[in-house]
Amino acid sequence: MMHVLKFGGTSVGSVENIRRVGEILHIRSSGHKPLCVVVSAFAGVTNQLQKLTELAPRRSLEAEKLYEALRRRHEEVIRGLGLEKDTGLAETVHDHFTALWETVRGSYLLRECSVAVHDRMLGFGERLSAPIISAYLRSIGINSAPLDGTDIFISDDRFGGARINRKASLKRTEQAFRSGKDVYVVTGFVAASEKGAVTTLGRGGSDYTAAVLAAMLHAPEVEIWTDVSGIMTANPAVVRGARRLSSITYAEAMELSHFGAGVLYGPTIQPAMEQNIPIRILNTFKPLDAGTVINKSGGGDDYPVTGITAIDDVALLTMEGSGMAGVPGVAARLFGYLAAADINVILITQASSEHSICVAVAPSDMKKARRAIESGFRHEIKAHEIDPVKEQKGLSVLAVVGQNMRHKPGIAGKVFRALGRRRINVYAIAQGSSELNVSVVLEHDQLSEALNAVHDAFFDPGRVAVYCVGAGTVGGALLEMFKDAGDNAPRLAGLANSRRMLVDERGMAPGSAREALVKGRPLDMATFTASIPPGSVFVDCTASEDVAGLY
Ligand code: ASP
Ligand code: MG
Repeated sequence: MMHVLKFGGTSVGSVENIRRVGEILHIRSSGHKPLCVVVSAFAGVTNQLQKLTELAPRRSLEAEKLYEALRRRHEEVIRGLGLEKDTGLAETVHDHFTALWETVRGSYLLRECSVAVHDRMLGFGERLSAPIISAYLRSIGINSAPLDGTDIFISDDRFGGARINRKASLKRTEQAFRSGKDVYVVTGFVAASEKGAVTTLGRGGSDYTAAVLAAMLHAPEVEIWTDVSGIMTANPAVVRGARRLSSITYAEAMELSHFGAGVLYGPTIQPAMEQNIPIRILNTFKPLDAGTVINKSGGGDDYPVTGITAIDDVALLTMEGSGMAGVPGVAARLFGYLAAADINVILITQASSEHSICVAVAPSDMKKARRAIESGFRHEIKAHEIDPVKEQKGLSVLAVVGQNMRHKPGIAGKVFRALGRRRINVYAIAQGSSELNVSVVLEHDQLSEALNAVHDAFFDPGRVAVYCVGAGTVGGALLEMFKDAGDNAPRLAGLANSRRMLVDERGMAPGSAREALVKGRPLDMATFTASIPPGSVFVDCTASEDVAGLY
């Protein structure tokens, strides 16, 4: 049985980090063998190759500079790892860079970069990182060999997002893993079409490579080693109370990855789920952290919902009119027109009065979508049965995800209460009948506040927000008490003294809030009080009549 581990771009992005990965594999390969290790390109390399595909057909000089920079970066890593004397490696790397340059030149001469050429260029990141990492493992005494995905995986020819044909690839793959090594280092992200053209599996696709291999080799588990300690209940950069989830279901992971949770590439889940293989997210930089397991049952955490997530930027199109109610086929036509214009619909709502249908799309699609709908319904619009399409930009989707929501009343109520209390306006609502996801459309400007409010409602219901005026002896003592209470303290969302004020919806550390206040905005009492949502607590630690007058 093979164990499958995948290391992402940041895990292999530098000499220091590759050494770290070496340490992890050193320990692991002294236990169970053999290991199948899937690697990404060094951090940032795929983005640079992407840039190269854009420059190559037009700007030979800039393309050459970028190519040289990529070459230098890889050579520096090879030197940094002490591998410059490995002649086999030197030859492989030289061959790949020669082939990359030929591809760049070819693209320049033809003045174009076809999808096939694009994939060929993009795939070099992994095809370079895998042999370098394997050579490093050999240098520290691990019996290792690299495997190139273009040699073992047969995929369809949907360039840029190809899918591996497991059945067709099985023989070659099994063969490749039978050469008696302890650690095979496999390129993520790349495969080859039946005709032998290099294909790539979609950005982030190395995760998918790992899951496919796990399914083909009947691995007991797939380990995804990345730079965070698992999947969180919300984006920790926005929601301060976000916490790690110990275990979630495949379906929840799919919902969350849909919303750009970013930790795992969506298509990874399917092959693992099909064979009931758990996916474990682990942190290369904190290898002892427990991480998150994605499996069939999930539910490792007893929260009513699993996660709160968002799509930052959407536009809403609303089609309304008296001529819509009771007329079959309006929705079908609407989505037909959108599909014909190649527009991806993010969210759909229709009230049962049937007077309006709302669709959310990417803002870049908004104009095109409106034109497609208006031209499709031009006769109805002319006859005033349907109004011209209303469009609205600057919106976001907030989604609450979780299998525990199923058949549980009150979840939606909680979401809307949390939003209503902050006077956050909701433009549209959608819930799939799987009850796995409740989505609301709101102003982008209010997204961060909304995420925190909804997150608090589910994960920190007891934590009231406190807005405190006065940071002298009395205020200072109060903050001291908050500090001592740790997680049990209320959330300090606002602090002001007679000169300055500081407001942070997510809560600030009470221990350092007074120092932070020195750099706060000049006090404007009206602004400060207006920022206080109903349901929170206002604490007056001053002796000022003016403040008391505000009660
Ligand atoms: N290197 C590829 C990317 O950046 C694939 C991956 O890292 O998963 O998208
Ligand atoms: Mg990734």
